Amino acid sequence: MNIHEYQAKALLRRFGAPVPDGHAVLKAEDFEAAAGSLPGPVWVVKSQIHAGGRGKGRFVEAEAGELGGVRLAKSVAEAKGFVEQMLGRTLVTKQTGPSGKQVNRLYVEEGSAIEKEFYLSALVDRESGWVAFVASTEGGMDIEEVAHATPEKIHTLTIDPVTGVQPHHGRTLSKALGLSGDLAKQASDLIGKLYEAFTSLDMAMLEINPLIVTKDGKLRCLDAKVSFDSNALYRHPELAELRDLTEEDDKEIEASKHDLAYIALDGTIGCMVNGAGLAMATLDIIKLYGEEPANFLDVGGGASEEKVTAAFKIITADPNVQGILVNIFGGIMKCDVIARGVIAAVRAVGLQVPLVVRLEGTNVEEGKRIIAESGLNVLPADDLDDAAQKIVAAVKKGA
Ligand code: ADP
Ligand code: MG
Repeated sequence: MNIHEYQAKALLRRFGAPVPDGHAVLKAEDFEAAAGSLPGPVWVVKSQIHAGGRGKGRFVEAEAGELGGVRLAKSVAEAKGFVEQMLGRTLVTKQTGPSGKQVNRLYVEEGSAIEKEFYLSALVDRESGWVAFVASTEGGMDIEEVAHATPEKIHTLTIDPVTGVQPHHGRTLSKALGLSGDLAKQASDLIGKLYEAFTSLDMAMLEINPLIVTKDGKLRCLDAKVSFDSNALYRHPELAELRDLTEEDDKEIEASKHDLAYIALDGTIGCMVNGAGLAMATLDIIKLYGEEPANFLDVGGGASEEKVTAAFKIITADPNVQGILVNIFGGIMKCDVIARGVIAAVRAVGLQVPLVVRLEGTNVEEGKRIIAESGLNVLPADDLDDAAQKIVAAVKKGA
């Protein structure tokens, strides 16, 4: 689960991390109170969307001007103008895709006088299973590009969960960022607080880009991006209210209600598969034969007929879907259950696009018989290769 910058900053503040003062503006009327409680002389108006690159983003609407999604104002009146221009408009950034995201919330923050910008993030290192911090002197930049062009500028340190953050971690971080004296002390302090926030809230990712040094020698988290481990959310019921459903894909919300592992993608072939590994292989083979998948969907090991029906409905409701590939290996999941679910869904919502079904494993004969006798226009397939070629050919023919 992702949250907005202003929510992430409020959480970090609770753990004592240095963040600038700011107030969320959810409707234009909130602005006066928000800006009035900040001293100036610079106010920063920041678009709140679940995507980065806002500063360099562009609004689709001409009224929002040519400037990006993060703007510095020299007066409250100027900041107010930005709020009016940005609220409700659509911002396109490197991370939103070409259609952009509507800006429904803003954050008005005190301006910082920036001396230097760094990069600092925390994530779970899959190899060690420990929390790792990634730091770089190249702040405010696209970190993937830094890692690619100048990998020597990326420093990683992992934290042993038994000891937690130790003084030497602080020293390593300071050295990586070229900090000494009081700033080194601030860096040590910060990494301890961020680690505490990360672990106690079960974050999956925490990214401060940029972490800055101000002209008066203070470290500050100027941006904050946080996502939580969804599997641990039950331990933090208070975080549920931070979820902003308007930022999430409708299909993904619907899928989460049915406990389906579903991720919307940009292609044309809807996929219904059981098991994450088989689902990944299915996406690969669709690409191999020259089409793009419209989604990743793992219906899970022991899905019921209702769950399969819900999954199929989500796929058919996607206007980009021009063909559907059902690829099931029946183990715990039985092929006849899948067959019944597919048929129930088709009866309920109709079928406008070609459908290829590949079944293998437990109760496969029964599954195939149910589909054959249903009278539905289903293209049967014998194996994954055959199935992928058939659905790609059918979609290409229809296009
Ligand atoms: P994004 O990463 O989405 O572009 P950031 O919050 O990192 O958004 O803001 C982009 C840039 O805007 C920062 O790198 C920084 O230079 C500037 N900026 C952001 N917030 C402030 C602030 N409070 N004071 C001064 N400059 C800011
Ligand atoms: Mg940023």
